[in-house]
Amino acid sequence: MKVMAQVTMVMNLDKCIGCHTCSVTCKQVWTNREGMEYAWFNNVETRPGKGYPDKWEDQETFKGGWVLSKKGKLVPKLEGKMGKFKEIVHIFSNPYLPTINDYYIPWTYNYDNLISSKGSDKQPVAKPESLFTGKKMDISNGPNWDDDLANGKYSIENDVNIKNNHLEEQIKSDFESSFMFYLPRICNHCLNPTCASVCPSGAIYKRDEDGIVLIDQDRCQGWRFCVSGCPYKKIYFNWKTHKSEKCTFCYPRIENGLPTVCSETCVGKIRYIGLLLYDEEKVIKAAEEKDDNKLIDSQLDVILDPFDENVIKNAVDNKIPYEWIESAQNSPVYKLIKKWKLAFPLHPEYRTLPMVWYVPPLSPITNNVDSTSLFADIDNMRIPLEYLASLFSAGNTDKIKDSLKKLLAMRYYMRTETINGKGNNYTIKDVGLTPDDIHGMYRLLAISKYNERFVIPSAHREEAENLLDDRGMFGFENTCPEDDVKPYFNTAKK
Ligand code: SF4
Ligand code: SF4
Ligand code: SF4
Repeated sequence: MKVMAQVTMVMNLDKCIGCHTCSVTCKQVWTNREGMEYAWFNNVETRPGKGYPDKWEDQETFKGGWVLSKKGKLVPKLEGKMGKFKEIVHIFSNPYLPTINDYYIPWTYNYDNLISSKGSDKQPVAKPESLFTGKKMDISNGPNWDDDLANGKYSIENDVNIKNNHLEEQIKSDFESSFMFYLPRICNHCLNPTCASVCPSGAIYKRDEDGIVLIDQDRCQGWRFCVSGCPYKKIYFNWKTHKSEKCTFCYPRIENGLPTVCSETCVGKIRYIGLLLYDEEKVIKAAEEKDDNKLIDSQLDVILDPFDENVIKNAVDNKIPYEWIESAQNSPVYKLIKKWKLAFPLHPEYRTLPMVWYVPPLSPITNNVDSTSLFADIDNMRIPLEYLASLFSAGNTDKIKDSLKKLLAMRYYMRTETINGKGNNYTIKDVGLTPDDIHGMYRLLAISKYNERFVIPSAHREEAENLLDDRGMFGFENTCPEDDVKPYFNTAKK
């Protein structure tokens, strides 16, 4: 076992109101400059829909993520398609890149015309102008072009999940059957990132101390294989500097114990950030799981119990600071992902082991809810289980169903407790939860405060000189003797 720490985000999709504040604040901080006008490190998609860039989930076109070779070994889909030799031949013309039209041509408006136009009896207008050429243009795409379309015909026809899973019959566009929800997306800071493995320059690295994936701007040669290799299309080419750029997980803030900009400013308070401890030696095995139905379990298996004495000892041996282990024990994301198993990674079948997870959304229940019909309704929810399973569990509907059942049981229990003074135990036993679990879930998902949603330990800046260890990698010096481990740490389950 080799214990590593990973800073991780969970988003509760039931609470996202699609306000795009996260996208705008991220843009103001990170991509508000020439060369990156079209890039949104954080974007919010309406689902069903085509996403941004257009149909980014179509890996037959973009060749992102990993596939298993005939021998069951991981191969980047890009390399599998081209082969190592062809990859080098294609280094000057990678054919699997999204075009600028798949993103959108960024524009501004000629605002000056509004105040300076003279001598006309017509109302002045501010026409759109391309930020690339400065010429007038017709707008035909944008980063949230199908925003709020609520599974209209256009959204259904262009949603890769619907096409790939033949859900056209199930997902109808008539008003009574329509549904929509928002899917905010950032780089997933994956445990097994394809972007790093396909980079010919070795410019992409995963920080040893907190798992944040970054691009070394000095080493990047602008080959753009990372843009194809990332199945989430979360790497963007800066046409001004000719380097690739990506979400940084706002590492300067994380190092100071602060949440990312997109989380800090999230209006719906849907985001949670905390540490997970994971076993690095299990990562490849988990990504090589052959059965798609078992991918969620194999990825959960990589995440370690921070209360386990053996895990704590190994973490200390691997120079993980004491307060980081404590922080992992208090982590909200550990509870949502591993303890209650409410959250899922986006498209686990890409085998990158994403470290941004999502609590799936509930959808309208038309019948009166009582304890006997509560779970029967899940199969008939507006959002088909198959659609959510295509996004979050590699098609395993049972996993999604279990999570939705727990969320419904929590709502029903809290409602009966509020109205009758006593929660209904019948339903929560059915989903393997205790009243304590329910109260914990309710607290975290519904009314948690800032310090409960974000549990982020500061980096050890004072030990910066020690960061490079004898492996030539980042690490921290331990200052406490090993004997202190047992009395110091809480190994009781919380
Ligand atoms: S989501 Fe981020 S870490 Fe994962 S492959 Fe894409 S760019 Fe790399
Ligand atoms: S973590 Fe920071 S860089 Fe990444 S999407 Fe959020 S605000 Fe942008
Ligand atoms: S700020 Fe929060 S609520 Fe608003 S769109 Fe972004 S994730 Fe959703």
